[in-house]
Amino acid sequence: MKQIPNSMKNFSWSLPFNLLLFKMIGGLAILLILSCVEREDNSSRNINDEDIVLAKSIIGKTLPPWEEGYLDIHAINTGRGESTLLIFPDGTTMLVDAAGSLISPLHEIPPPAQKPNNMVSPGLAITNYAKHFVKPASNKLNYLMVSHFHSDHMGGYSDDLPMDPSGSFRMSGITEVGANINFDIIFDRDYPTYNYPINHFSNPMMVNYINFLNWAKTAYGAKAERFVAGKNDQIVLKRNPSKYPNFKVQNLISNGIIWTGIGTEAKNVLPSVEDLVIGKAPENIFSIGLELSYGKFNYFTAGDLQYNGRSDHAWKDIEAPLSKIVNPVDVMKSNHHGTANCNGDVLLGKLIPKVVLSHSWRDVHPNPETVTRMFAANSASHVFTTNMTEANKARFGSDLTKIKSMQGHIVVRVKPGGASYTVYVLDDSNQEYNVVKTFGPYQAN
Ligand SMILES: [Zn+2]
Repeated sequence: MKQIPNSMKNFSWSLPFNLLLFKMIGGLAILLILSCVEREDNSSRNINDEDIVLAKSIIGKTLPPWEEGYLDIHAINTGRGESTLLIFPDGTTMLVDAAGSLISPLHEIPPPAQKPNNMVSPGLAITNYAKHFVKPASNKLNYLMVSHFHSDHMGGYSDDLPMDPSGSFRMSGITEVGANINFDIIFDRDYPTYNYPINHFSNPMMVNYINFLNWAKTAYGAKAERFVAGKNDQIVLKRNPSKYPNFKVQNLISNGIIWTGIGTEAKNVLPSVEDLVIGKAPENIFSIGLELSYGKFNYFTAGDLQYNGRSDHAWKDIEAPLSKIVNPVDVMKSNHHGTANCNGDVLLGKLIPKVVLSHSWRDVHPNPETVTRMFAANSASHVFTTNMTEANKARFGSDLTKIKSMQGHIVVRVKPGGASYTVYVLDDSNQEYNVVKTFGPYQAN
């Protein structure tokens, strides 16, 4: 008589148990995936449930590439400042800021862990991220922008930083990105004079940046321009503008010059250079700000605008005059990383953001009272932060549960036409860009 192998015996009697186990594991996996997908409560009634199913299916996988017609907004987390990658509906690309603070981990207000790790500089992490996501679009950076001249937005300077291969400048933040990815035009607040309100040529970080600009012009024909408040044709679609007439970038503010809300007219709200110097005007108030709109969807971003010191010098509250010309938005990048001296109730009361992206990179980001103001402006607001320390989490107490995400790159992906969007949180501990959580879809207003 033929013997039945032991393995077959085991298989035959244990089949129902295996099936039960399989079903249980399958059920647990579905529950786990559902727990990572949060449906937006109030404004998703008219949205197709196919979006929910798609969101569920990509948890744990690399975020699918950008596709024609979509608008992507990526808050890239390095733990050392801000960087936002934008991919417009026709594939035009733009990088706003490229972090690279050289802060010591032993600083009195310490930074969180560097991402993805200490072996990858912030400039390289942003380069790798941008290279990955711009590939299906223009496969380069059409626009670079520096919101203001601080290291957590453009990269710090030290004699220890590596030189670029031509030996023209040291690589850090924006200069490291530009050394590795070609760009067409770079915007900043003070090209080409770099003397407002003080001469920037005494700052080694700025001299290095200017050396980088000169190199990029010669090396691959890059251009540089001063960002002009009021304009609405400085940042435009470069690949197929006629296909997307409902896409627009409105320049709001730069160097304290603010769009009036009429045509392309803009007005300076700051005092004389002499008064700015005497009053020790902080660099943050000169930040560039803009509003991007695509159909019903709109996004506000304005560097590190703040109101610190307004009790002594009213002009230090640069949010106040800006508040007069802004309207409600779907998504807002919080000013100045959501710290204590910005995102005042007046500005938030005008923007009434549905989604707030806080590019946190210090122990004090975001500030609990600042986040309270965000919810006061819109109790249904969804607040996301890129990088929160354990010490700061403790300061929030029970309010911590109101924050949707506390770690990772944050991606807002707007559907073709701009009617709705989804928020994805990506794992920032490696460079795989895997989706950890999804939120929405949200209806654009
Ligand atoms: Zn900053």
